[in-house]
Amino acid sequence: MAVVLVTGGAGYVGSHACKALAAAGHRSVVYDNLATGHRDLVRWGPLEQGDLLDADRLDAVLAAHRPEAVLHFAALSVVGDSVREPERYRRNNVEGSLALIGAMERHGVRRMIFSSTAAVYGIPQRLPITEDAPLAPINPYGETKAEIERALAASGLAWTALRYFNAAGADPEGEIGEHHQTETHLIPIVLHVALGLRPAIAIFGDDYDTPDGTCVRDYIHVSDLADAHVRALARLEGGGTSGPFNLGTGRGTSVQEVVDLARTVTGHAIPVEHEPRRPGDPPVLVCSNEAARAALGWQPRHDAATQVADAWRWHRRRFGA
Ligand code: UDP
Repeated sequence: MAVVLVTGGAGYVGSHACKALAAAGHRSVVYDNLATGHRDLVRWGPLEQGDLLDADRLDAVLAAHRPEAVLHFAALSVVGDSVREPERYRRNNVEGSLALIGAMERHGVRRMIFSSTAAVYGIPQRLPITEDAPLAPINPYGETKAEIERALAASGLAWTALRYFNAAGADPEGEIGEHHQTETHLIPIVLHVALGLRPAIAIFGDDYDTPDGTCVRDYIHVSDLADAHVRALARLEGGGTSGPFNLGTGRGTSVQEVVDLARTVTGHAIPVEHEPRRPGDPPVLVCSNEAARAALGWQPRHDAATQVADAWRWHRRRFGA
């Protein structure tokens, strides 16, 4: 049993990690400013409301709870916003994380599992993407995450950076799921169409060099992500070396295939509009997850169809009439 501080634990991936920590016998303390998180997603331990940039508050929370490790999810994560407001992203994500690392060092907290992203790779030279690929982000969001990975490598902490591919799905038991104020991600938007909250899904580009012309992504179930965090924590506790791991299924699913899966799962027609390519979208992002399998004993358990089905159950309950 460990006490774990979970920054961003009121958010999508962070809340699922809290559930997985509880199932593994750990105690989570959520640290979240609730800018994008939701109080009702914090169910497995106390919520300490606070901002990463509030050093006094962080000090007080670390002193009160004395965690053995930090799972660090708190971040702004909308790629388009990061292009429009790079300074806000830098301040929140980079300066916030540096403040957190500093506070951990002051309080003798030695381990961090960091929520990183496939966006650190930019447009990959080789597929599937392995962890030794160069970090070449093409947007400020990815840059902030790459910079934090570098800061961790230069710190005295034991750390694991988990580079998520496309997080998707929801808790299979239906307790928690994805809820962003401004939704930009494919699967939730497709499900909003199924619920009648939007008229159609815009497919951004159908002329890519892919089997059906639409972009291919590696969608990974949020509960599989959560499980990897618990395993990464145990590995660091066991003296494992610091470094990054990709988290994806290793299988690609196209935008058109996601729409088709959602039509099957929801029974809704889901009208489609074809729009131009979205700037900055690589045609294909698929990872090699061999390193995570070998080092964490981890394997993804939920395929894309299950991700859409679990997300649908959650969306119907949260946003349905
Ligand atoms: N996408 C789309 N329509 C949307 C949202 C996304 O066609 O309304 C496409 C997007 O171009 C990308 C894929 O769906 O190829 C996944 O996008 P998302 O924003 O979910 O995740 P990303 O891959 O950008 O992290």
